[in-house]
Amino acid sequence: MSAGERRVLEAVPKELLIGGEWRPAASGRRFAVQDPATASTIAEVADGSVADALAALGAADEAQPGWAATAPRGRSEILRRAFDIITARADDLALLMTLEMGKPLAESKAEISYAAEFFRWFSEQAVRVPGNYQVSPAGNSRLITLRQPVGPVLLITPWNFPMAMGTRKIGPAIAAGCTMVFKPAELTPLSSLALAGILIESGLPPGVLNVVTTTTAGDTTGPLIKDSRLRKLSFTGSTAVGKALIEASAEQVLRVSMELGGNAPFLVFADADLDAAVEGAMVAKMRNGGEACTSANRFHVEESVATEFAARMTERMAALTVGRGTEEAVEVGPLIDAKQLDKVASLVDDAVARGAQVRCGGERGSGPGYFYRPTVLCPVPPDSRMRTEEIFGPVAPIYTFASEEEAVAAANDTEYGLVAYVYTRDLGRAVRVSEAIKTGMVGINQGVVSNPAAPFGGVKQSGFGREGGEEGIEEYLDIKYIGIST
Ligand code: NAP
Repeated sequence: MSAGERRVLEAVPKELLIGGEWRPAASGRRFAVQDPATASTIAEVADGSVADALAALGAADEAQPGWAATAPRGRSEILRRAFDIITARADDLALLMTLEMGKPLAESKAEISYAAEFFRWFSEQAVRVPGNYQVSPAGNSRLITLRQPVGPVLLITPWNFPMAMGTRKIGPAIAAGCTMVFKPAELTPLSSLALAGILIESGLPPGVLNVVTTTTAGDTTGPLIKDSRLRKLSFTGSTAVGKALIEASAEQVLRVSMELGGNAPFLVFADADLDAAVEGAMVAKMRNGGEACTSANRFHVEESVATEFAARMTERMAALTVGRGTEEAVEVGPLIDAKQLDKVASLVDDAVARGAQVRCGGERGSGPGYFYRPTVLCPVPPDSRMRTEEIFGPVAPIYTFASEEEAVAAANDTEYGLVAYVYTRDLGRAVRVSEAIKTGMVGINQGVVSNPAAPFGGVKQSGFGREGGEEGIEEYLDIKYIGIST
């Protein structure tokens, strides 16, 4: 480990944040955080349990009334200061993220910037929460509509975007005046702990943000979901866990936001600009090494251009440099852990066993870390498991279609509905197809849709609720109507 890596790791708080204080877990237990490129331990953090989580909820509950009453401008300025600090420390935060999550440094830097933008965006939204004043239709009363923080909220995030998944929830919660218990992923707690430290430095009062890192996610957060002091749950993660949490949330009738799994189709029509389509396909597939809910999980290409598209994708994918993300030339890092590596390998093996052809890759990389070679499969039998399951890795399966109707039907043939990508130069087709596709987001001639100013989220089993945009803060606000007799 280099001196720079050691310095960045040493600077991160490694305890739980409860009521404004960093403290060890009540049990005294700690757990190891690994570098997925080397499979070696890089840090140990506090392993919280129910007692810690309940203490965190107690602190959030106590802080809620005062925080709700804080001037919106004050909340806004805390977010803005945090944006400035994150931006100033982008290099260190990016290195930290690469160390615990594996993505190449350039991608970590892009995520730090994306993550910080949620704070800037919501610092601007904090002072623009709308209300309404109406004369009743009968004229004998006035109807006032206001928005109040739903708070305290429980935030649960995954490992794939260790910083952005946090700021996408914490930003609007702060802007709306909600206090929080934040449980980041076990595999990537360090970025979240660094983020919490920055918010404290930015002036966030004690108890507003409480952080509980743990190896026992379900056991530790379960009692909070059943505790009447909690009023909302915002979850990003797998559909399977999301479903269980929705069920558990029924007991207290919690407000719930769910950002779940995806199976994004990437459609290429014969009239598309093929250079742009390949460029977009590389971004849609390889952003985050394919470990993204928005990752293109299947390429559907019109028959007449499929051979050309597959050849160009193969050339680009085969040329990617795989390795430890801290090294400058590396374009693809390791997968997050052995389980994810086994899953990707088994999906490829399954497709190949059914008759898929490997154009490049199709095998694990070398080293103690969790590497898988960028892979293109074409053709791929439609009964392959990867047609319906989230791959979450650097694997591009290419299928073909013969007509617009067939393309739309293939795109919609999934229980998921997060995002779809469409490449065509026909404006009418772009409108028709994007309206017919059942997803929360569509990228037309672009391979990335994430933008803090836009409402990110899915339909069907990809979840409900939106993060970012004007809609993002609404997830943290209750609407109250006051009728005044005149
Ligand atoms: P996951 O296993 O569902 O875990 C997500 C989070 O939930 C982690 O913090 C995890 O803790 C926690 N968790 C697991 N079981 C829990 C339980 N019973 N009760 C409460 N919390 C629990 O998902 P993942 O593998 O980390 O993330 C990948 C998934 O996230 C993919 O399906 C991806 O599509 C989805 N995702 C969706 C979006 C979106 O915006 N739609 C964005 C990013 C990722 P531990 O870490 O301790 O297990």
